[in-house]
Amino acid sequence: MYCNYCGKVIQDDANVCAYCGTRVGSSTARTRLVRPRQGRKIAGVCMGFAEYFDVDVTLVRVVWLIASFTTIIGMISYPIAWIVMPEEPLLLSGAPAGKPVTNA
Ligand SMILES: [Zn+2]
Repeated sequence: MYCNYCGKVIQDDANVCAYCGTRVGSSTARTRLVRPRQGRKIAGVCMGFAEYFDVDVTLVRVVWLIASFTTIIGMISYPIAWIVMPEEPLLLSGAPAGKPVTNA
């Protein structure tokens, strides 16, 4: 794949561009609707929607809470989303696998 910032060819599984240091992995990782493991309040459903649609998680929670108290759909949609939304895959800490070590 190509870096969106500098346009150079980088590894497909790279999180950070090796040439300019721009984060590239996170943008592709958030194209799937998943429940993040960090920052969640209950099951991470609101957090997942907030990251997927790139909106404030507090806004999602407030809207969802109001919908839950006012409509049947809002009430049952949270447990349904909890069940159908996959959990975010465990991210391996440290450098991406296979990244070449460049010691001068
Ligand atoms: Zn770059």
